[in-house]
Amino acid sequence: MQRSILILGGTAEARALAGKLASDPRFAVELSLAGRTRAPAEQPVPVRVGGFGGAEGLAVYLRQRGISILIDATHPYAAQISRNAAQAAKISGVPLVALRRSPWPRQPEDRWIEVDSVADAVKALGEAPRKALLTLGRQELLPFEAAPQHHYLVRSVDPVEPPLSVPNAVYLTARGPFEQADEARLLQDYGIEAIVAKNSGGPASYGKIAAARELGIDVVLIRRPDLPDVPSVETVEEMLAWLDHAPVPLK
Ligand code: NAP
Repeated sequence: MQRSILILGGTAEARALAGKLASDPRFAVELSLAGRTRAPAEQPVPVRVGGFGGAEGLAVYLRQRGISILIDATHPYAAQISRNAAQAAKISGVPLVALRRSPWPRQPEDRWIEVDSVADAVKALGEAPRKALLTLGRQELLPFEAAPQHHYLVRSVDPVEPPLSVPNAVYLTARGPFEQADEARLLQDYGIEAIVAKNSGGPASYGKIAAARELGIDVVLIRRPDLPDVPSVETVEEMLAWLDHAPVPLK
């Protein structure tokens, strides 16, 4: 009998995990996306899109669909859906396991300024005009309007619409992975003096961090939010091993 797995996704790992499980006859896998990106990457398993209506809504969905295992493979900064997943698992009794990349460790040559929020990142750029690369989600950029003296290079998956109300901003749309050499070229081409980023972990977006180190550029790094304390693994391989040995009743 197959076990039904719901993967909460929106990350490269969720997609990779779904790809590994797609042809495994032990599992029927569905992937859930929030629906934020306009043209999401193609997925190897059936996909559902959009919110569930909070933890209660997710719990109802888990019961209705007869889900045996809930996997939270969302981005480490997507704290709300992770809290909802923990709560929904409690309500429904469906076992939850999280796939969470470990954060990038700081290297001695890194020029990191760690802050707790986007607003604090804006302050950390300082009063004097600087050229800054912003690699945050397009919904998180508004606080930079409070610092219109800087020149911004904004990179996002979807276009930033409407654009920021600042006199100097250039917009790039691109989807990772990004290599260190390409990132170094971008930083040099635009004369970037500071990067504002999240500590996403994983290799796909590490290129800018390594390039900043190489070029001696400041990185204003927004700290990770607190996430619920649930059983978790760090890699797709560990998740596959967990699934092999999961003491989960068949439904
Ligand atoms: P969030 O603040 O934690 O979640 C806000 C709401 O969006 C949730 O309460 C839920 O709505 C819905 N939602 C989020 N992820 C969902 C999913 N996988 N499936 C169905 N509904 C979902 O999330 P976020 O930070 O906006 O991120 C949204 C998505 O983008 C996540 O899937 C995440 O993995 C991905 N992502 C986020 C970041 C980031 O930096 N935050 C970066 C890369 C990718 P309901 O309460 O109605 O269920």
